[in-house]
Amino acid sequence: MRLLIMGPPGAGKGTQAKYVAEHFKIPAISTGDIFRANVGQGTPLGIEAKRYMDAGEYVPDEVTNLMVRDRIDEPDAVAGFLLDGYPRTLAQVEELDGMVAFTGHSLDAVIVLTADRDEIVERLLRRAQTEGRADDTEDVIRRRQEVYAEETEPLIAIYRERGLTHEVDGMGEVDQVTQRIFDSLNGVIES
Ligand code: AMP
Repeated sequence: MRLLIMGPPGAGKGTQAKYVAEHFKIPAISTGDIFRANVGQGTPLGIEAKRYMDAGEYVPDEVTNLMVRDRIDEPDAVAGFLLDGYPRTLAQVEELDGMVAFTGHSLDAVIVLTADRDEIVERLLRRAQTEGRADDTEDVIRRRQEVYAEETEPLIAIYRERGLTHEVDGMGEVDQVTQRIFDSLNGVIES
């Protein structure tokens, strides 16, 4: 089972990815989490990625693609995975197509979490005050939304044309949203 979850920053992708991945017994692979772990450990990858993350910009495709390639080659991802936060650019879409095709498989579904942009920004600003993530200043939050709208949102159409998208309302209680995702995937994917 090879799934993607897409949606604007702050729509709750990471939270939902964990529940969905657990249900299908596949790893949830978050590029943002991998970058943050590398930043935390001070690895060369982390040092490189931090500059972009702190500004709300995307880490260059070559760096991100290599990292994802390595991660999905790991044994736990051979039978499938749920990618959270990747692909985010056209070059990444093409790279992922190549990676998946190489293994003789194809993507099964793309979960698209929809959310009210203004409400998300409000929520992220509140979270910034309580958690103080380095990429959670107001300017960076707004920049991340802009970059998403410019570079990533248009990519959803590619997967829609392939008939893979499942658009799910991401607003509301976490477990309600999870249930909507399962309802939407029902019939497409046997669990
Ligand atoms: P996230 O936690 O998914 O919002 O990711 C946090 C940050 O990591 C993003 O704002 C980017 O700087 C970087 N990042 C995560 N995934 C990608 C990606 N697929 N391509 C480029 N940069 C990424």
